[in-house]
Amino acid sequence: MSASTPTILALDFDGVLCDGMSEYFWTAWRAWRRLRPSIAPDPPHGLFDRFARVRPVVERGWEMPLVIMALLSGACEAEILERWRPEALLGELGHAHDEVAAVLDGVRDEWIAADEGDWLDQHRFYPGAIQRLRRLTGGPTRVVIVTTKEGRFARKLLVRQGLDLGVEDIYGKEAGRPKPVIVRELVEPRSPARSLWFVEDRLKTLEAMKSTPGLDDVRLFLAGWGYNTPRDREAARGDSRVMLLSLERFTGDFPAWVQT
Ligand SMILES: [Mg+2]
Repeated sequence: MSASTPTILALDFDGVLCDGMSEYFWTAWRAWRRLRPSIAPDPPHGLFDRFARVRPVVERGWEMPLVIMALLSGACEAEILERWRPEALLGELGHAHDEVAAVLDGVRDEWIAADEGDWLDQHRFYPGAIQRLRRLTGGPTRVVIVTTKEGRFARKLLVRQGLDLGVEDIYGKEAGRPKPVIVRELVEPRSPARSLWFVEDRLKTLEAMKSTPGLDDVRLFLAGWGYNTPRDREAARGDSRVMLLSLERFTGDFPAWVQT
């Protein structure tokens, strides 16, 4: 296979193929209301957009209600983006992070149990992403999803778009292994003919890939349209290992991805 076509294309799901911002926001809002029952039932006007713009700071789910807390307390977006200190907010809130996580997971589980279709409806695929995957099916490149979402939900969302990836091609939360470990399993056994490209929207995950032994030949791409900040994209531009990818290139053919 040519150097400009991977044998395996490993893709993160949220922030690469699928935008789940609506789900994040409403889950976070409901969790926040449970933590602070005295607040009004409806979010103030404009909160969704502000939440969406600072969402890239979130590393762990429990931080999302704290983003709402910070925005409602009057923190400006730049301050959140530059100096995100969720632990300090936990102290102010008077809860441990696992308590906030339990509230968030509970809200989400209840939503899915009550109306799974409505929950799935909160996700939308980025323009051209599904068509791109469709063009790859049956071709020489194996597409694999590596996500921290539960695999069954990623699969359901894809099936709704008419794309039925096999369970063996979706590595979700239930795999219980960090992404670099999964990617290393995918590239072994090593053969000169096997190449893997990995697309992810979190720079820190790509940095973890860089420092994992055995992944030197994996091509790393930062999805510039996903949940990352201008600073992350700038860092990717100056990085010799990571390539900053645009949605336009992602939805086009492989050789264009690696053109400089
Ligand atoms: Mg992601």
